Amino acid sequence: MARGARRSSWTAAAVATLGLGVFAAGRGTLDGPMIAASLVVLCLGGFIGSLGRSRIVRTPESPGTGRHSVAEALLANIPDPVILVDRRAVVIEVNPAARALLPTLKLRHPLSFALRAPDVLDGIEEVLRTGAALKTLYTTRVPTERAFEVQIGALPMPDGVVGGQPNVVLFLRDLTSARRLEAMRVDFVANASHELRTPLASLLGFIETLQGPARNDPPARERFLGIMKTQAQRMARLVDDLLSLSRIELREHVPPTRPVDLTRIARQMVDTQGPLARDRGVALSVAAEGAFPVLGERDELLRVVENLIENAVKYGGSGGRVEVALRRQTDAASGRAGVELAVRDYGPGIAAEHIPRLTERFYRVDVASSRDQGGTGLGLAIVKHIVNRHRGRLIIESVPDAGTTVRAIFPEFETAGTREALAEPA
Ligand code: ADP
Repeated sequence: MARGARRSSWTAAAVATLGLGVFAAGRGTLDGPMIAASLVVLCLGGFIGSLGRSRIVRTPESPGTGRHSVAEALLANIPDPVILVDRRAVVIEVNPAARALLPTLKLRHPLSFALRAPDVLDGIEEVLRTGAALKTLYTTRVPTERAFEVQIGALPMPDGVVGGQPNVVLFLRDLTSARRLEAMRVDFVANASHELRTPLASLLGFIETLQGPARNDPPARERFLGIMKTQAQRMARLVDDLLSLSRIELREHVPPTRPVDLTRIARQMVDTQGPLARDRGVALSVAAEGAFPVLGERDELLRVVENLIENAVKYGGSGGRVEVALRRQTDAASGRAGVELAVRDYGPGIAAEHIPRLTERFYRVDVASSRDQGGTGLGLAIVKHIVNRHRGRLIIESVPDAGTTVRAIFPEFETAGTREALAEPA
């Protein structure tokens, strides 16, 4: 291709880029992907201009001849799928992200062979007819459910083999995570409102009864006030747990930086929970040899041990004993040393199908039993977020009728003398 011709194809691409940019800005959508996409369109202009030549001269021995390396490099580095088709919707160029999404996508084959999406194909026709860019949606169900916003724009080519014929460029933006997050947020608000509404309705009912039929009935008043107190406490616990969860989530990306001794924390919590365990006839013990230093937030780690012991006593107390144990362990995959905190009970255990969901907010195996025990369904969600913040792992193992063991494994913090410095005085 002559130098002048190539320059003019670049100019055309620049105009197209500006067009897309103006379109996006006009709609208030000039965001990161769009800017990146515009850059690629700019380079693609040069590339497409040389495409005719590359088709002619490219041979197996010189596969890259004529390809515009800047365009290729840019395309390859765009994390979102980008597809370029001609006016017959035949694929001219794709980037690796597009190939990963649509493995059957082939150069010089109709796009419809790989992308069975009538809205997208109609969109290409419309863009070619009107010259105006548009957005549509592309969803997949297999292998997983995903949703993409497809931005379709015309790319006029004034010269070269494809001269005068506009091509069409498609940018796909993955909306899957954003949609999942939105669904989780909606579920969370619905669950939290429901959890609060139940005790609130009960409180309102008793207040009306106390103002009406039970006004002059002192024994009934005493009884109702007792129930009202329990319901109010339940609401307070729920609000406390919700606040803890949001505080922990806010800090989850900032790992703690101060060394603390997990042995001391476990022993302190075992002492605190002793009375609850004794009331329920559960023998609570702790086994830990020396100090186990980790980089941690003391209050948060206390919360982890508290929640795990409380659950073991509440749901596994029928086994008669709960054991807290600390030990060093080495991760088989990474070879890194860790400190494992295990809380084991010998209760009824948990059926396997529930285990992966236990750390979801408000997930309970038995809602009524959790409520009777004063549970909010947020305990293990809080534990999981704290463990995540500490860059640890949470493993729940359970055998029905034999009991449950919950392990939290934290990276060990070991510098010369740390264990000795943190160890409790003898
Ligand atoms: P809750 O506030 O209901 O205790 P959690 O998030 O702490 O919420 O626990 C979720 C559910 O997991 C509990 O409702 C209970 O059904 C189950 N569970 C947790 N720990 C144990 C355990 N040690 N034994 C049996 N079931 C357990």
